Amino acid sequence: EPAPQSQSFEFREDPSFWKDHNVQVIIRIRPLSSSEISLQGNSKCVRQESCQTITWTGHPESRFTFDLVADEHVSQEDLFKVAGLPMVENCMGGYNSCMFAYGQVSFQTGSGKTHTMLGDIEGGTRRHSVNCGMTPRVFEYLFTRIQKEKDTRKDEKLRFTCKCSFLEIYNEQILDLLDPSSTNLQIREDMKKGVHVENLKEIEVTSARDVIQQLIQGAANRKVAATNMNRASSRSHSVFTCIIESKWESQGVTHHRFARLNLVDLAGSERQKSSGAEGERLKEATNINKSLSTLGLVIMNLVNISNGKSLHVPYRDSKLTFLLQDSLGGNAKTTIIANISPANWLVEYIFCVFALLFIGDTKYIEVCTAG
Ligand code: ADP
Ligand code: MG
Repeated sequence: EPAPQSQSFEFREDPSFWKDHNVQVIIRIRPLSSSEISLQGNSKCVRQESCQTITWTGHPESRFTFDLVADEHVSQEDLFKVAGLPMVENCMGGYNSCMFAYGQVSFQTGSGKTHTMLGDIEGGTRRHSVNCGMTPRVFEYLFTRIQKEKDTRKDEKLRFTCKCSFLEIYNEQILDLLDPSSTNLQIREDMKKGVHVENLKEIEVTSARDVIQQLIQGAANRKVAATNMNRASSRSHSVFTCIIESKWESQGVTHHRFARLNLVDLAGSERQKSSGAEGERLKEATNINKSLSTLGLVIMNLVNISNGKSLHVPYRDSKLTFLLQDSLGGNAKTTIIANISPANWLVEYIFCVFALLFIGDTKYIEVCTAG
């Protein structure tokens, strides 16, 4: 049957974002892949109802509300304008920011986390590729913004230093993606540096091109690390951080400001109970789910605290939240982009059976049974 004409909704920033809450959640629905279309046609299991609501057309039909819904027609550029640009502005004001890409594991086509966070980085920055993702766009804008600020505040001797680091958390262990010989790094906390990773490589960057170079290097190291350990790279969290330091003089006094900008591609979440995984695989899945549920609890408690409740925030229950402690809560702004696939679970199931019968690949069969 022909697909019902979907109504298009305006995708724009809601000015109340971040006014009342420091956390916002955007749902991003990716388009169906060509193989999904060939199996199930154009029918989808999610329907957008408004700028903020979607309906899951399963049994029973359920409706979910978010701060914003981005359907398949929302471009990388539009998503950057709504979610990335305000984050950079926040950092320019001296506040920390965090952006997370969340999504479920899948056997066939992923949910879109890496597409959202990195996209086509080899293609360069936004002038060159429509598929260029959030991170390169954020840095292209950041360096333009820094130059503008310097131009307008010439007499204050304004100086900026940007240092980036790129790490991976796999099985609650930290690996430096810019120096893969550094494994199992430790998180420390002190008065001077706050929460930080000991001996993590920090590289000074002065342009979006510098950042992209580090992203490409880090992504290649991430692939090698995953291959060496015989695991999928999507089973780890990757955290790209930039520390933006500014110094200026005003009325004979030197001022100093720091802001941290964190961009996180989360490990795929999965339904472990029914997956039947054992041994190392179970430990790995348990760690992934534990860190994702801790992140969920931390964020939920922060939202409740901003609503006036007094609660304990369990930052230390996972490496990811401990590491990002200074960038979650307080004045920091957090954006979560939850990526979902509109494909029917049956499609996933058929692919898994196909993999098992014809390719003999049992690696992802747990995903199938979980589905
Ligand atoms: P994940 O990182 O969650 O496993 P990916 O980002 O690798 O998933 O996305 C899986 C595939 O779907 C990729 O080929 C990607 O290019 C495509 N894709 C994901 N989201 C979109 C989107 N919004 N628009 C177009 N293609 C997308
Ligand atoms: Mg990915």
